[in-house]
Amino acid sequence: MLHKIINLTVRDVRFPTSVEQHGSDAMHTDPDYSAAYVVLDTDRGLRGFGLTFTLGKGTEIVVCAVEALAALVVGKSLQEIVSDFRGFYRLLTSDGQMRWLGPEKGVTHLATAAVLNAVWDLWARSEGKPLWKLLVDMDPEQIVSCIDFRYITDVLTEKEAVDILVKAQEGKQQREDQMQKEGYPAYTTSCAWLGYPDQQLKQLCTDALKSGWTKFKVKVGADLEDDIRRCRLIRQMIGPNNTLMIDANQRWDVAEAISWVSRLSEFKPLWIEEPTSPDDILGHAAISKALAPLGIGVATGEQCHNRVMFKQFLQASALQFVQIDSCRLGSVNENLAVLLMAHKFQVPVCPHAGGVGLCELVQHLILFDYICVSASLDSRMCEYVDHLHKHFTSPVVIQDAHYMPPKDPGYSCEMLEASVQKHQYPEGDVWKLHMNK
Ligand SMILES: [Mg+2]
Repeated sequence: MLHKIINLTVRDVRFPTSVEQHGSDAMHTDPDYSAAYVVLDTDRGLRGFGLTFTLGKGTEIVVCAVEALAALVVGKSLQEIVSDFRGFYRLLTSDGQMRWLGPEKGVTHLATAAVLNAVWDLWARSEGKPLWKLLVDMDPEQIVSCIDFRYITDVLTEKEAVDILVKAQEGKQQREDQMQKEGYPAYTTSCAWLGYPDQQLKQLCTDALKSGWTKFKVKVGADLEDDIRRCRLIRQMIGPNNTLMIDANQRWDVAEAISWVSRLSEFKPLWIEEPTSPDDILGHAAISKALAPLGIGVATGEQCHNRVMFKQFLQASALQFVQIDSCRLGSVNENLAVLLMAHKFQVPVCPHAGGVGLCELVQHLILFDYICVSASLDSRMCEYVDHLHKHFTSPVVIQDAHYMPPKDPGYSCEMLEASVQKHQYPEGDVWKLHMNK
Protein backbone atom coordinates (compact mmCIF):
# COMPACT_ATOMS: atom_id res chain seq x y z
CA MET A 1 0.00 0.00 0.00
CA LEU A 2 1.36 3.40 -0.97
CA HIS A 3 1.50 6.13 1.64
CA LYS A 4 1.84 9.46 -0.10
CA ILE A 5 3.08 12.27 2.14
CA ILE A 6 0.67 15.15 1.65
CA ASN A 7 1.65 17.53 4.42
CA LEU A 8 4.46 18.39 6.85
CA THR A 9 3.88 20.48 9.95
CA VAL A 10 6.58 21.60 12.35
CA ARG A 11 6.07 23.20 15.75
CA ASP A 12 8.28 24.90 18.33
CA VAL A 13 7.70 23.07 21.64
CA ARG A 14 9.51 24.21 24.79
CA PHE A 15 9.51 22.98 28.38
CA PRO A 16 10.57 25.43 31.13
CA THR A 17 13.10 23.02 32.70
CA SER A 18 15.46 25.87 33.65
CA VAL A 19 13.12 26.84 36.49
CA GLU A 20 14.30 23.84 38.52
CA GLN A 21 17.82 23.63 37.06
CA HIS A 22 17.17 20.29 35.36
CA GLY A 23 19.79 19.75 32.68
CA SER A 24 22.18 22.38 34.04
CA ASP A 25 25.88 21.85 33.33
CA ALA A 26 29.11 23.86 33.12
CA MET A 27 28.19 25.43 29.77
CA HIS A 28 24.40 25.23 29.62
CA THR A 29 23.37 26.76 32.90
CA ASP A 30 19.67 27.25 32.21
CA PRO A 31 18.37 25.00 29.43
CA ASP A 32 14.69 24.89 28.56
CA TYR A 33 14.47 21.45 26.97
CA SER A 34 12.77 21.95 23.62
CA ALA A 35 12.11 20.38 20.27
CA ALA A 36 11.29 21.17 16.69
CA TYR A 37 8.44 18.69 16.38
CA VAL A 38 7.51 17.37 12.96
CA VAL A 39 4.37 15.56 11.83
CA LEU A 40 4.01 14.00 8.39
CA ASP A 41 0.49 13.37 7.12
CA THR A 42 -0.21 10.80 4.42
CA ASP A 43 -3.15 10.35 2.07
CA ARG A 44 -4.07 7.07 3.81
CA GLY A 45 -4.27 8.68 7.23
CA LEU A 46 -1.10 7.13 8.64
CA ARG A 47 1.12 9.75 10.29
CA GLY A 48 4.84 9.95 11.06
CA PHE A 49 6.25 11.86 14.06
CA GLY A 50 9.79 13.16 14.43
CA LEU A 51 11.76 15.69 16.39
CA THR A 52 15.12 17.24 17.00
CA PHE A 53 16.26 18.46 20.37
CA THR A 54 17.17 22.06 21.30
CA LEU A 55 17.69 24.09 24.47
CA GLY A 56 15.04 26.77 24.06
CA LYS A 57 16.11 29.94 22.28
CA GLY A 58 16.75 29.37 18.59
CA THR A 59 14.25 26.55 18.19
CA GLU A 60 12.42 28.88 15.83
CA ILE A 61 15.49 28.81 13.54
CA VAL A 62 15.40 25.01 13.38
CA VAL A 63 11.66 25.21 12.65
CA CYS A 64 12.47 27.55 9.77
CA ALA A 65 15.09 25.10 8.42
CA VAL A 66 12.60 22.22 8.58
CA GLU A 67 10.15 24.33 6.58
CA ALA A 68 12.87 24.89 3.99
CA LEU A 69 13.26 21.11 3.61
CA ALA A 70 9.53 20.38 3.47
CA ALA A 71 9.26 20.73 -0.30
CA LEU A 72 11.73 17.85 -0.71
CA VAL A 73 9.46 15.52 1.28
CA VAL A 74 5.86 16.50 0.57
CA GLY A 75 4.49 14.81 -2.54
CA LYS A 76 6.70 11.72 -2.21
CA SER A 77 5.40 8.35 -1.15
CA LEU A 78 6.96 6.48 1.74
CA GLN A 79 7.74 3.60 -0.64
CA GLU A 80 9.50 5.94 -3.06
CA ILE A 81 11.67 7.24 -0.21
CA VAL A 82 12.61 3.95 1.42
CA SER A 83 13.25 2.10 -1.85
CA ASP A 84 16.18 4.50 -2.33
CA PHE A 85 16.75 5.79 1.20
CA ARG A 86 20.42 6.57 0.50
CA GLY A 87 19.32 8.75 -2.42
CA PHE A 88 16.71 10.50 -0.29
CA TYR A 89 19.24 11.18 2.48
CA ARG A 90 21.53 12.67 -0.17
CA LEU A 91 18.66 14.77 -1.53
CA LEU A 92 18.02 16.34 1.89
CA THR A 93 21.68 16.86 2.81
CA SER A 94 23.13 17.81 -0.57
CA ASP A 95 20.64 20.15 -2.16
CA GLY A 96 22.77 22.33 -4.40
CA GLN A 97 21.73 25.54 -2.67
CA MET A 98 20.74 24.49 0.86
CA ARG A 99 23.99 22.61 1.49
CA TRP A 100 25.82 25.91 1.75
CA LEU A 101 24.20 26.31 5.17
CA GLY A 102 25.82 23.06 6.38
CA PRO A 103 26.81 20.83 4.83
CA GLU A 104 25.64 18.14 7.26
CA LYS A 105 26.16 20.22 10.38
CA GLY A 106 24.49 22.83 12.54
CA VAL A 107 20.90 23.95 12.22
CA THR A 108 20.27 22.37 8.81
CA HIS A 109 21.46 19.00 10.04
CA LEU A 110 19.27 19.21 13.15
CA ALA A 111 16.38 19.95 10.79
CA THR A 112 17.37 16.99 8.59
CA ALA A 113 17.31 14.77 11.67
CA ALA A 114 13.81 15.94 12.62
CA VAL A 115 12.45 15.25 9.14
CA LEU A 116 14.18 11.89 8.69
CA ASN A 117 13.20 10.77 12.20
CA ALA A 118 9.59 11.35 11.14
CA VAL A 119 10.12 9.34 7.96
CA TRP A 120 11.61 6.42 9.92
CA ASP A 121 8.71 6.62 12.38
CA LEU A 122 6.27 6.50 9.47
CA TRP A 123 8.08 3.52 7.96
CA ALA A 124 8.07 1.56 11.22
CA ARG A 125 4.37 2.33 11.77
CA SER A 126 3.51 1.24 8.23
CA GLU A 127 5.16 -2.12 9.02
CA GLY A 128 3.44 -2.31 12.43
CA LYS A 129 6.79 -2.62 14.25
CA PRO A 130 8.82 -0.61 16.72
CA LEU A 131 11.75 0.93 14.87
CA TRP A 132 14.39 -1.31 16.48
CA LYS A 133 12.50 -4.38 15.28
CA LEU A 134 12.11 -2.96 11.77
CA LEU A 135 15.91 -2.62 11.67
CA VAL A 136 16.58 -6.02 13.25
CA ASP A 137 14.36 -7.72 10.65
CA MET A 138 16.03 -6.06 7.64
CA ASP A 139 18.66 -8.03 5.77
CA PRO A 140 22.20 -6.66 5.73
CA GLU A 141 21.97 -5.34 2.16
CA GLN A 142 18.83 -3.39 2.95
CA ILE A 143 20.39 -1.83 6.07
CA VAL A 144 23.43 -0.80 4.10
CA SER A 145 21.26 0.67 1.32
CA CYS A 146 20.08 3.33 3.82
CA ILE A 147 23.61 4.63 4.47
CA ASP A 148 25.39 7.38 2.55
CA PHE A 149 28.99 6.15 2.37
CA ARG A 150 30.28 9.38 0.85
CA TYR A 151 33.43 10.53 2.69
CA ILE A 152 33.83 7.37 4.78
CA THR A 153 34.87 4.68 2.29
CA ASP A 154 38.52 5.10 3.31
CA VAL A 155 37.49 3.57 6.62
CA LEU A 156 34.34 1.59 5.86
CA THR A 157 33.23 0.31 2.46
CA GLU A 158 29.78 -0.92 1.65
CA LYS A 159 31.13 -4.46 1.40
CA GLU A 160 32.79 -4.27 4.83
CA ALA A 161 29.54 -2.99 6.30
CA VAL A 162 27.62 -5.93 4.82
CA ASP A 163 30.28 -8.34 6.12
CA ILE A 164 29.98 -6.94 9.68
CA LEU A 165 26.19 -7.35 9.58
CA VAL A 166 26.36 -10.85 8.05
CA LYS A 167 28.81 -11.96 10.72
CA ALA A 168 26.54 -10.68 13.47
CA GLN A 169 23.62 -12.74 12.19
CA GLU A 170 24.99 -15.54 14.34
CA GLY A 171 23.32 -15.46 17.74
CA LYS A 172 20.99 -12.66 16.69
CA GLN A 173 17.82 -14.40 17.85
CA GLN A 174 19.29 -15.18 21.28
CA ARG A 175 20.33 -11.55 21.72
CA GLU A 176 16.87 -10.34 20.73
CA ASP A 177 15.31 -12.75 23.26
CA GLN A 178 17.78 -11.61 25.90
CA MET A 179 16.88 -7.94 25.30
CA GLN A 180 13.16 -8.73 25.53
CA LYS A 181 13.81 -10.38 28.88
CA GLU A 182 16.49 -8.20 30.48
CA GLY A 183 16.54 -4.94 28.53
CA TYR A 184 19.59 -2.82 27.68
CA PRO A 185 21.81 -1.55 30.54
CA ALA A 186 21.44 2.14 31.38
CA TYR A 187 23.14 4.76 33.54
CA THR A 188 21.59 7.81 35.15
CA THR A 189 22.49 11.48 34.81
CA SER A 190 19.45 12.71 36.75
CA CYS A 191 21.10 12.76 40.20
CA ALA A 192 23.83 15.32 39.72
CA TRP A 193 23.01 18.26 37.49
CA LEU A 194 25.40 21.11 38.22
CA GLY A 195 22.72 23.41 39.61
CA TYR A 196 21.47 20.92 42.21
CA PRO A 197 22.40 21.61 45.85
CA ASP A 198 24.25 18.82 47.73
CA GLN A 199 21.17 17.83 49.74
CA GLN A 200 19.14 17.24 46.57
CA LEU A 201 22.02 15.33 45.03
CA LYS A 202 22.22 13.07 48.09
CA GLN A 203 18.49 12.42 48.11
CA LEU A 204 18.37 11.62 44.39
CA CYS A 205 21.38 9.34 44.72
CA THR A 206 19.78 7.46 47.63
CA ASP A 207 16.57 7.02 45.64
CA ALA A 208 18.46 5.87 42.54
CA LEU A 209 20.46 3.28 44.48
CA LYS A 210 17.20 1.95 45.91
CA SER A 211 15.77 1.62 42.39
CA GLY A 212 18.73 -0.50 41.28
CA TRP A 213 20.95 2.05 39.52
CA THR A 214 24.66 1.17 39.55
CA LYS A 215 26.12 3.72 37.12
CA PHE A 216 26.06 7.45 37.74
CA LYS A 217 27.20 10.56 35.89
CA VAL A 218 28.17 13.83 37.54
CA LYS A 219 28.44 17.23 35.87
CA VAL A 220 31.78 18.94 36.47
CA GLY A 221 33.90 21.75 35.09
CA ALA A 222 32.75 25.02 36.65
CA ASP A 223 34.78 25.00 39.89
CA LEU A 224 37.44 22.45 40.83
CA GLU A 225 36.90 22.52 44.61
CA ASP A 226 33.19 22.13 44.02
CA ASP A 227 33.82 19.16 41.72
CA ILE A 228 36.07 17.48 44.29
CA ARG A 229 33.39 17.87 46.95
CA ARG A 230 30.57 16.61 44.71
CA CYS A 231 32.55 13.67 43.30
CA ARG A 232 33.65 12.66 46.81
CA LEU A 233 30.05 12.82 48.00
CA ILE A 234 28.76 10.68 45.12
CA ARG A 235 31.62 8.18 45.35
CA GLN A 236 30.98 7.78 49.08
CA MET A 237 27.31 7.21 48.44
CA ILE A 238 27.65 4.72 45.57
CA GLY A 239 30.64 2.85 46.99
CA PRO A 240 33.81 1.67 45.23
CA ASN A 241 32.21 -0.92 42.94
CA ASN A 242 29.55 1.13 41.20
CA THR A 243 30.48 3.16 38.14
CA LEU A 244 31.07 6.92 38.08
CA MET A 245 31.39 9.08 34.97
CA ILE A 246 32.09 12.82 34.77
CA ASP A 247 30.94 15.30 32.13
CA ALA A 248 32.45 18.75 31.52
CA ASN A 249 30.26 19.75 28.56
CA GLN A 250 33.17 21.34 26.61
CA ARG A 251 34.34 23.61 29.39
CA TRP A 252 38.14 23.36 29.19
CA ASP A 253 41.15 23.92 26.97
CA VAL A 254 43.26 20.81 26.39
CA ALA A 255 45.94 21.29 29.06
CA GLU A 256 43.36 22.44 31.59
CA ALA A 257 41.27 19.33 30.89
CA ILE A 258 44.22 17.07 31.57
CA SER A 259 45.20 18.73 34.85
CA TRP A 260 41.60 19.13 36.10
CA VAL A 261 40.66 15.50 35.39
CA SER A 262 43.93 14.30 36.91
CA ARG A 263 42.85 16.00 40.13
CA LEU A 264 39.56 14.08 40.00
CA SER A 265 41.19 10.73 39.19
CA GLU A 266 41.09 9.64 42.86
CA PHE A 267 37.33 9.20 42.44
CA LYS A 268 37.97 6.66 39.66
CA PRO A 269 35.75 7.98 36.89
CA LEU A 270 35.33 5.61 33.95
CA TRP A 271 35.29 8.50 31.51
CA ILE A 272 35.52 12.23 31.13
CA GLU A 273 32.86 13.38 28.70
CA GLU A 274 33.25 16.36 26.36
CA PRO A 275 36.39 17.73 28.03
CA THR A 276 36.94 20.41 25.37
CA SER A 277 35.55 21.79 22.09
CA PRO A 278 33.47 19.11 20.37
CA ASP A 279 35.28 19.94 17.10
CA ASP A 280 38.80 19.46 18.45
CA ILE A 281 39.67 15.93 17.34
CA LEU A 282 43.40 16.21 17.97
CA GLY A 283 42.75 17.88 21.33
CA HIS A 284 40.63 14.89 22.33
CA ALA A 285 43.43 12.60 21.15
CA ALA A 286 45.95 14.43 23.36
CA ILE A 287 43.60 14.22 26.35
CA SER A 288 42.96 10.51 25.70
CA LYS A 289 46.67 9.82 25.61
CA ALA A 290 47.39 11.78 28.79
CA LEU A 291 44.56 10.21 30.79
CA ALA A 292 45.05 6.60 29.64
CA PRO A 293 47.62 5.84 32.37
CA LEU A 294 45.04 6.98 34.96
CA GLY A 295 42.52 4.50 33.56
CA ILE A 296 40.18 7.29 32.44
CA GLY A 297 38.71 7.22 28.93
CA VAL A 298 37.35 10.09 26.85
CA ALA A 299 33.71 10.05 25.73
CA THR A 300 32.18 12.42 23.22
CA GLY A 301 29.64 12.71 20.41
CA GLU A 302 26.48 14.52 21.49
CA GLN A 303 27.66 17.55 19.53
CA CYS A 304 29.71 15.72 16.90
CA HIS A 305 28.41 17.06 13.60
CA ASN A 306 28.40 14.04 11.37
CA ARG A 307 29.83 10.64 10.36
CA VAL A 308 32.96 12.28 8.91
CA MET A 309 33.96 13.72 12.27
CA PHE A 310 33.21 10.42 14.02
CA LYS A 311 35.44 8.75 11.44
CA GLN A 312 38.31 11.06 12.34
CA PHE A 313 37.76 10.71 16.11
CA LEU A 314 38.07 6.95 15.61
CA GLN A 315 41.05 7.19 13.27
CA ALA A 316 42.88 9.44 15.72
CA SER A 317 42.10 7.26 18.80
CA ALA A 318 40.58 10.46 20.19
CA LEU A 319 37.72 8.78 22.05
CA GLN A 320 37.23 5.54 23.93
CA PHE A 321 33.41 5.76 24.07
CA VAL A 322 31.27 6.79 21.08
CA GLN A 323 28.22 8.81 22.10
CA ILE A 324 25.78 8.81 19.22
CA ASP A 325 22.82 11.16 19.32
CA SER A 326 19.51 10.43 17.63
CA CYS A 327 18.80 14.07 16.80
CA ARG A 328 22.26 15.55 16.07
CA LEU A 329 23.30 13.19 13.28
CA GLY A 330 21.19 12.69 10.16
CA SER A 331 18.74 10.32 11.83
CA VAL A 332 18.94 6.52 11.70
CA ASN A 333 20.71 6.60 8.32
CA GLU A 334 23.82 8.37 9.56
CA ASN A 335 23.79 6.68 12.98
CA LEU A 336 23.95 3.30 11.24
CA ALA A 337 27.19 4.41 9.59
CA VAL A 338 28.66 5.44 12.95
CA LEU A 339 27.61 2.19 14.69
CA LEU A 340 29.36 0.20 11.96
CA MET A 341 32.53 2.32 12.04
CA ALA A 342 32.68 2.09 15.85
CA HIS A 343 32.41 -1.68 15.55
CA LYS A 344 35.24 -1.77 13.05
CA PHE A 345 37.46 0.15 15.48
CA GLN A 346 36.15 -1.93 18.40
CA VAL A 347 35.13 1.17 20.33
CA PRO A 348 31.98 0.77 22.46
CA VAL A 349 28.94 2.91 21.71
CA CYS A 350 27.27 4.50 24.77
CA PRO A 351 24.53 6.78 23.40
CA HIS A 352 23.76 10.28 24.56
CA ALA A 353 20.19 10.68 25.79
CA GLY A 354 18.07 12.87 28.03
CA GLY A 355 16.77 16.22 26.88
CA VAL A 356 13.27 15.76 25.56
CA GLY A 357 12.66 12.57 23.59
CA LEU A 358 16.31 11.55 23.24
CA CYS A 359 15.85 8.51 25.50
CA GLU A 360 12.71 7.54 23.60
CA LEU A 361 14.54 7.59 20.28
CA VAL A 362 18.07 6.37 20.91
CA GLN A 363 17.00 3.22 22.78
CA HIS A 364 15.94 1.82 19.38
CA LEU A 365 19.41 2.38 17.91
CA ILE A 366 21.34 0.83 20.77
CA LEU A 367 19.08 -2.24 20.78
CA PHE A 368 19.85 -2.65 17.09
CA ASP A 369 23.56 -2.16 17.80
CA TYR A 370 23.62 -4.99 20.33
CA ILE A 371 21.43 -7.40 18.39
CA CYS A 372 22.86 -6.83 14.90
CA VAL A 373 26.27 -5.13 15.11
CA SER A 374 28.36 -5.24 18.29
CA ALA A 375 26.93 -8.42 19.87
CA SER A 376 28.56 -7.24 23.09
CA LEU A 377 27.56 -5.44 26.29
CA ASP A 378 31.16 -4.97 27.48
CA SER A 379 31.71 -1.35 28.63
CA ARG A 380 28.37 -0.45 27.07
CA MET A 381 25.40 1.40 28.53
CA CYS A 382 22.87 3.96 27.41
CA GLU A 383 22.32 7.28 29.15
CA TYR A 384 19.04 7.82 30.97
CA VAL A 385 17.56 11.03 32.30
CA ASP A 386 14.30 11.05 34.17
CA HIS A 387 12.56 14.11 32.74
CA LEU A 388 9.59 14.80 30.44
CA HIS A 389 8.73 11.22 29.48
CA LYS A 390 5.11 11.77 30.44
CA HIS A 391 4.61 13.95 27.37
CA PHE A 392 5.06 11.01 24.98
CA THR A 393 2.43 8.52 23.84
CA SER A 394 4.95 5.64 24.18
CA PRO A 395 7.34 6.70 26.95
CA VAL A 396 10.47 4.70 27.74
CA VAL A 397 10.11 1.77 30.12
CA ILE A 398 12.98 1.35 32.59
CA GLN A 399 13.17 -1.79 34.70
CA ASP A 400 15.95 -2.37 37.17
CA ALA A 401 18.15 0.24 35.41
CA HIS A 402 17.59 -1.28 31.96
CA TYR A 403 15.75 0.04 28.91
CA MET A 404 13.00 -2.45 28.04
CA PRO A 405 12.48 -2.76 24.26
CA PRO A 406 9.60 -0.60 23.02
CA LYS A 407 6.57 -2.53 21.80
CA ASP A 408 4.48 0.11 20.03
CA PRO A 409 4.94 0.61 16.28
CA GLY A 410 7.15 3.55 15.31
CA TYR A 411 10.16 5.45 16.66
CA SER A 412 8.53 6.52 19.99
CA CYS A 413 8.59 10.21 18.95
CA GLU A 414 4.90 11.01 19.19
CA MET A 415 4.00 13.54 21.87
CA LEU A 416 0.61 13.89 23.47
CA GLU A 417 -1.24 16.56 21.49
CA ALA A 418 -2.37 18.25 24.72
CA SER A 419 1.29 18.56 25.83
CA VAL A 420 2.32 19.99 22.47
CA GLN A 421 -0.41 22.61 22.54
CA LYS A 422 0.29 23.56 26.14
CA HIS A 423 4.05 23.95 25.55
CA GLN A 424 4.02 25.44 22.08
CA TYR A 425 6.16 28.56 22.01
CA PRO A 426 5.16 31.33 22.56
CA GLU A 427 1.40 30.80 22.38
CA GLY A 428 0.97 27.76 24.67
CA ASP A 429 -0.55 28.22 28.12
CA VAL A 430 2.72 27.35 29.89
CA TRP A 431 4.54 30.20 28.15
CA LYS A 432 1.72 32.70 28.44
CA LEU A 433 1.84 32.10 32.20
CA HIS A 434 5.61 32.29 32.29
CA MET A 435 5.77 35.58 30.44
CA ASN A 436 3.15 37.18 32.64
CA LYS A 437 5.20 36.47 35.76
MG1 LIG B 1 26.95 15.08 28.06
